[in-house]
Amino acid sequence: KCGLIAIVGRPNVGKSTLLNRIVGQKISITSKKAQTTRHRVMGIHTTDEAQFIFVDTPGFQTRHASTMNRAMNKRVRETLSDTDVVMMLVEAGRLTREDRQVMELLPKDRPLILVVNKIDHAKDRAGLMAYLQEVAAAHAFTEIVPVSAKQGSNLEELLKTLEKHL
Ligand code: GDP
Ligand code: MG
Repeated sequence: KCGLIAIVGRPNVGKSTLLNRIVGQKISITSKKAQTTRHRVMGIHTTDEAQFIFVDTPGFQTRHASTMNRAMNKRVRETLSDTDVVMMLVEAGRLTREDRQVMELLPKDRPLILVVNKIDHAKDRAGLMAYLQEVAAAHAFTEIVPVSAKQGSNLEELLKTLEKHL
């Protein structure tokens, strides 16, 4: 199995930290498939079972969501349309307006994984997860996976979840 995974989320949710954790030092940018896309490849993680190609979405990362207009939204959707899975990061216990604006732009025709990062910070984890289940349902997320990129917790679960959708 091999596929493109878009990673989206407002600044500071931990995208770079998560990618560094998953990809480690073994960054490869030699995949032909990746180079034919509109994306910038952030890293590739290869296991015996699968190859995960993580790509960024410039539209989400370089501009504040509040400045997004219709044309911008269209461009973001186009950018996401040639990825297999979309993985959106949010921070545990901190859902902002900007997060919600990103959610509005996610495609509805492919698997959406809500990754709740920084769970090492969460005080009321059960309450948090219940709340996020509601958010996930409201925005049609396919799966919800809590992780701590910093501590490296639950990353195996995240990779298993992603692999299911490649
Ligand atoms: P990005 O802007 O989405 O790429 O976010 P970064 O990866 O640069 O992380 C932003 C900040 O959050 C940094 O100070 C990270 O050390 C911190 N951070 C990232 N992941 C975690 C986590 O799982 N737990 C905690 N406590 N902090 C984290
Ligand atoms: Mg970053």
